[in-house]
Amino acid sequence: MPQRSTESVDNYLKAILTLGERQPGRVASNALAAHLGVAPASVTNMLQKLAAAAAPFVEYERHRGVLLSPSGRRRALEIVRHHRLIETFLYEVLDYPIEELHEEAERLEHFISERFEERIAAKLGHPTTDPHGHAIPSLEGEMPPRSSMCLTDVSEGTFIVDSISDRDAPTLRSLQANGLTPGTKVRVTRSPSDSYSVRIGRSTTALDLSPEVAREVRILPLTK
Ligand SMILES: [Zn+2]
Repeated sequence: MPQRSTESVDNYLKAILTLGERQPGRVASNALAAHLGVAPASVTNMLQKLAAAAAPFVEYERHRGVLLSPSGRRRALEIVRHHRLIETFLYEVLDYPIEELHEEAERLEHFISERFEERIAAKLGHPTTDPHGHAIPSLEGEMPPRSSMCLTDVSEGTFIVDSISDRDAPTLRSLQANGLTPGTKVRVTRSPSDSYSVRIGRSTTALDLSPEVAREVRILPLTK
């Protein structure tokens, strides 16, 4: 297969994995089109092609949505592992700014060899999470289930920041500049303007997050 189409297959598999994690079960092709930013007709085309392959990566039925086959899930997890290891390497070893990690990793994830992947993992001490707080799948393709919740799913309380989505660079930059990073303790209240008011650590000043920004942040309940 020429490289461009491998890249695009990988991106489909990753998107199906991500959307399936958000809402277990079959992924609707419209949701996939929105996530990938492509026309629904191209999605249908691609899924039909993928499902018709000799060892298909997906199970697809029109109007019923799509599921990853065991080999599709393995491939998707491998690409996610590449992506998150590359992000960690760029951040910790090459000092890339947090908001530039994702775009660079999106390019490189399709092309690194198994040897390169192993070297990066060893150099970094076999990390289990990336700089955004996302779990890195193991070499065997295992990833712990997500137990975190979206900030928009809570009304108030004290939490630990679990992860921040890597998809929106300006949001990432501003949250990091304000000290909102994975592992920090936050106190959340809803403000009358419908935004989320977040106090970081012992700080007495609150950061106001719009619902759009709050949706990018996942949190865990504070244990103890
Ligand atoms: Zn990323």
